[in-house]
Amino acid sequence: MPTAPPGIPARLAAIRARVADAARAAGRDPREVRVLLATKTQDPGTVVEAVTAALELAAEAGDDRPVLVGENRVQELVAKAPALAGLVAAGRLEAHMIGHLQRNKVNQVLASATGVQTVDTLALAEALSGRCVRDGRTLDVMVQVNVSGEESKSGVAPDEAVALATDVAALPGLRLVGFMTIGLRSDDEAAVRAGFARLRRVRDEVGSSGAPGTAAARELSMGMTGDLELAVAEGATVVRVGTAVFGERPVTR
Ligand SMILES: *Cc1c(COP(=O)(O)O)cnc(C)c1O
Repeated sequence: MPTAPPGIPARLAAIRARVADAARAAGRDPREVRVLLATKTQDPGTVVEAVTAALELAAEAGDDRPVLVGENRVQELVAKAPALAGLVAAGRLEAHMIGHLQRNKVNQVLASATGVQTVDTLALAEALSGRCVRDGRTLDVMVQVNVSGEESKSGVAPDEAVALATDVAALPGLRLVGFMTIGLRSDDEAAVRAGFARLRRVRDEVGSSGAPGTAAARELSMGMTGDLELAVAEGATVVRVGTAVFGERPVTR
């Protein structure tokens, strides 16, 4: 039996407590917010150990949903897939792409991921859709929105997000499950929150549009180690956590 390196289970428990506190402070049910493990730079063994610990904690809390992991790079997603395949096949794990995705990597991503959170162009969505239709499968996707307007960040502009999401939702082979953003990097909490609120309004607008395929678009993937309380306060249903679980990453990446 692999044992998690000392620290990871305790860190996971602390994150769950942080999320639960933030949810209760916002008058929300803590179970509405899932923790996605952002596993970039971690080796496959560490990821399996963290997922195992997360499943145990969830089971203790009576939560039998699969654990979510997210990868930023196609190369890492593919490299870790064999170690995670058993958990995915058993329905215990969902592996999401959370980094920028190029169209020419679509086949590689589809071989290893159960979801893509970073759809930001119709061309990318069409490439994913075409491949899924050919394979006879359905892929969960989110539209990534650049709520902060920072040029370094991927994502569709907020003003264009509703139109893109509506188009994506209508494509065969894709199931639009929600929206994803990376928050503004700033100490100005009000500004960070405003970005998260913007994503929520995009979701609400799309969800209430009645357009084909939009009914399932409920998720808000927003908030990381440094800003998850603000995201939960604004309605996050998935927070993506790396540093708080695995420690600081090497500065080179
Ligand atoms: C790395 C990463 C995270 C997690 O960030 P931490 O600050 O380490 O919690 C979340 N989302 C994305 C897209 C990331 O690349």
